[in-house]
Amino acid sequence: MTISEVPSSTEMLDRYAASRDLWPGGTLAFWHGESAPRPERVFWPETDEQAAAVLAEASQQGIPVVPYGLGSGVCGGARGREGSWSVDTKRLIKMGPLDEARWTVEVEAGVNGQQLEDALTSRGFTLGHSPSSISCSSVGGWAAARSAGQFSSKYGVFEDMVLGLTAATATGEVLKIGTHGDDDPALMPLLLGSEGTLGVITRCNLRVWKAPEARWLRGYRFSTIDDALDAMRRLMQAELWPSVVRLYDPIDTRIGGKTKPKASRKQGTKRWYRRWLSEIGQLDPIRRRTLALPLALPGVVNRLFEGIASGCLLIVGWEGRPAVVEALTAAGRSILEERGEDLGAGPGNRWYQSRHAVSYKLMPVFERGGFADTMEIAARWTDLPRVYRAVREAVTPHAVVLAHMSHVYPEGGSIYFSFAGRGSRSVYEAVWNAAQDAVLAQGATITHHHGVGALKAKWASAEVGAAVEGWREAKARLDPNGVMNPGRLFVPVPPRDAGPDPRLHETDGLVRFPVAATPEERAEECTRLGVEQMFPWEALPAPARWTRSHWQVGWTEVSGRVGAQHVRLGRGPRSATGPDLRPWLVAHGDCRCTVPVVPAGERWLGAAKVDRPWEVARELLRSDLRPAVLDVVDGELRVGFRGPACRQLGAVASRWVPGGLTERDWEAFTLPSGPLEPCATTDADCVAVTAQGGLRRART
Ligand SMILES: Cc1cc2nc3c(=O)[nH]c(=O)nc-3n(C[C@H](O)[C@H](O)[C@H](O)COP(=O)(O)OP(=O)(O)OC[C@H]3O[C@@H](n4cnc5c(N)ncnc54)[C@H](O)[C@@H]3O)c2cc1C
Repeated sequence: MTISEVPSSTEMLDRYAASRDLWPGGTLAFWHGESAPRPERVFWPETDEQAAAVLAEASQQGIPVVPYGLGSGVCGGARGREGSWSVDTKRLIKMGPLDEARWTVEVEAGVNGQQLEDALTSRGFTLGHSPSSISCSSVGGWAAARSAGQFSSKYGVFEDMVLGLTAATATGEVLKIGTHGDDDPALMPLLLGSEGTLGVITRCNLRVWKAPEARWLRGYRFSTIDDALDAMRRLMQAELWPSVVRLYDPIDTRIGGKTKPKASRKQGTKRWYRRWLSEIGQLDPIRRRTLALPLALPGVVNRLFEGIASGCLLIVGWEGRPAVVEALTAAGRSILEERGEDLGAGPGNRWYQSRHAVSYKLMPVFERGGFADTMEIAARWTDLPRVYRAVREAVTPHAVVLAHMSHVYPEGGSIYFSFAGRGSRSVYEAVWNAAQDAVLAQGATITHHHGVGALKAKWASAEVGAAVEGWREAKARLDPNGVMNPGRLFVPVPPRDAGPDPRLHETDGLVRFPVAATPEERAEECTRLGVEQMFPWEALPAPARWTRSHWQVGWTEVSGRVGAQHVRLGRGPRSATGPDLRPWLVAHGDCRCTVPVVPAGERWLGAAKVDRPWEVARELLRSDLRPAVLDVVDGELRVGFRGPACRQLGAVASRWVPGGLTERDWEAFTLPSGPLEPCATTDADCVAVTAQGGLRRART
C-alpha cells in the first residue's frame, strides 16, 4: 500500500476546512482577523490499511499528523498545524452490522453521531450516547476525546460503550483490540482518550440498548444548591440510576427563566435580563453596546446576578421499561420531594426538546465583540460546592459566569461553567488561567468530557503529574518518531506533586484500600465500617476492572508514587484528562485505590432454579434492571437489589423470571471465590454479567 492510493487533497479549500475545530479561542482569533494554521495536505483514508500507510509515511518523513473527526472539539485538539498532514475520517463511514442478538453494533470512526442514532432508532435500538454535539461529532472523536452524553447516568460515558476498537498507528500497524482481535487489551484504555496522540481510531464495536419504551421527566425547584446537591447524591447512592440529572445554578435558573418564579418586585429585573438575552440573538450592530457594556463590567454583572437569583432548577428523568421506570420514579420522588418543589413535567420536557440546541447560540456573542466558552470539571459531592465557589470567584473579575451540574455518579458529579467576556485575547486567557488554576488548587479534575486538546494541555500535564510517563511509554511504542498530534494533550511542565491523599468523607460513599488488599481484607474493612462495596465484582481481572458501567465498575481514584512524586489519578468521579493511566500507575507502584460503597441498609434478595439461568440473567439486565447481585451459583439464579426501591424492583424481576423468585436471606449471600475469567452464557458459576453476555465465572 502506498499513500498515492489514499484519497487526498492539497487544495486550499480542503486545507482550510481542516484548519479549525470549534474551540472558542480559535473563533476569537478569527474575529481578530487571524486565520488558523493550515495543514499541508488532507488525507481521507477509506480503510484501516490506508490510514496505517499514511501514518507510517508521515512518521518516516517526520511530518506531524493531526487526526480530524467532525471538528466539534472545543479545545483545539483537531486544529490545523503548519506543515502537517490532516488525517480526516470522513470517508470511514460504514455502519453495521447491528447484532440484534448480542446488542452490539460495528461502526467506523467517521460516522456522524446523529446518523448512527437514527439508524439504531429505526431498528428499535439506541446507543444511549447523546452529547449536545451529536449532530456534528463522530464516533472516532467521541472515543478519542472521552465524550459523555446527557444520559450518562443510565448508559455510562462513551468508553463504557466500547467493546472493541481498531486503530492505525504511526508504526504502520493496525491494532485490533477487545472484540476486534487479540492485540494487547491494555492498549484499549490508552487509546480511548488519547486525542490523536497515539494513533487514529478507525472503527469501534459498541454496546447498544433497546430504545426506551417509557420516559419520565420532571422539574424540581430547590431553595439552595446544597439542598439540590444533597437530593442528587442520595438518588445516585440509592442506586436508582436516573437517566438524567441536571441542576442549574440560581443564576442560570433565573436568567434562563427556567422555573416559574413567584410574583415579586424582581419581575421587572427579570424581564430586563430576558430582553438582554434575546438581544444577544440579534445582529443589529447598533445594539452591540447592549452586550459590550455588561461584558466590560463582569464583576458588577456577576454580583447583580447573585443578588437577584433565588432557587435553582433540577431536571431529573428516568427511562426504560415502564415497570422499572415506575418503581424507580416512585422511590426517586420521595427523595426529591423532601426539599424540592415539584414543577411538573413542563421543565423536563422543555429541556428534552431543546437539549441539543442551547450550545449553538454562542456565536452572536463573538459577532458583538465578546467571547463565550465553557469548562466542565468533576469532583466528589463534598468538594463540588467548594469548587463551584472557587471557580466563580476566580472568574468573576474577568467574565460573566453561569453553571449547571450534570453527569452524576454515586460519588460525585460534573460542573459545567459557561463564561462570557469582553472579546480580547488577554481577557480570554485570564479567564482560563484563573478557572483551571482554581480547579487544580481544589484537587478536582480539570475536564469531565470535553477533553484537553491544546487549550488545557499544561493543566492536564500538571494533573496527571509523573504518571505522564505511562502515556510516554505508549507513545514510544506506537509513535516512536513523535509525529502524532504534537503539542496536544500533554506538554512538558515541571513535575507537580499531588500532595497527600485527601480525607474521605462519609457522604461521598468511598473507601480507600491498598491496591494489594485481598477481597477478604476489603470485605473485613467494609464490615468494620458498616458498609458494603457497591460493585462486589470490582475484583475482576484487568482490563474489565477498569470498565466503568453500573454493573461492572472499577476503582475510582488511584494514588501512588512514581519516583519521588506522589500522583493522584481519577480525582473526580470521572475525568477526561487523556487516556486512563490508572492501570499503568497500579503496575508501577505501591498504590491505594478508592471504591464506591453503600451503607448496609434496605435490601432484597431472591433466587430461582431456572433453565439456562444466564440467559434469564441477561434478559433482566436487558430489561433495564440493574441488580446489585446477579449471579448463578450451582445453577441457581440469584437477584438482589438495595436501596429504597429494592422491594418494588424485586417484584418486577420476579415477574420476569420463569416461575418467579423466592425471597432469600441476604446475609447468606456470598460471592464464589477464586480467580475469574471470561466465560460463555451457558457456564454455571459466574459473578458478573453484561447485557452483551460478556460473563465472568470463578474457575473451579
Ligand atoms: C455545541 C457543542 C456541544 C458539545 N457538547 C458535548 C457534549 O455534550 N458531550 C461531549 O462529550 N462533548 C461535547 N462537545 C465537544 C465535542 O463534540 C466532543 O469533544 C467530540 O467528542 C468531538 O468529536 P469530533 O468528531 O468532532 O472530533 P474532533 O473535534 O474532530 O477531534 C477531537 C479530538 O480527537 C482527535 N480525533 C478525532 N477523531 C479521531 C480518531 N478517529 N482517532 C484518533 N483521534 C481522533 C482529534 O485529533 C482531536 O484531538 C460539544 C461541542 C460543541 C461544539
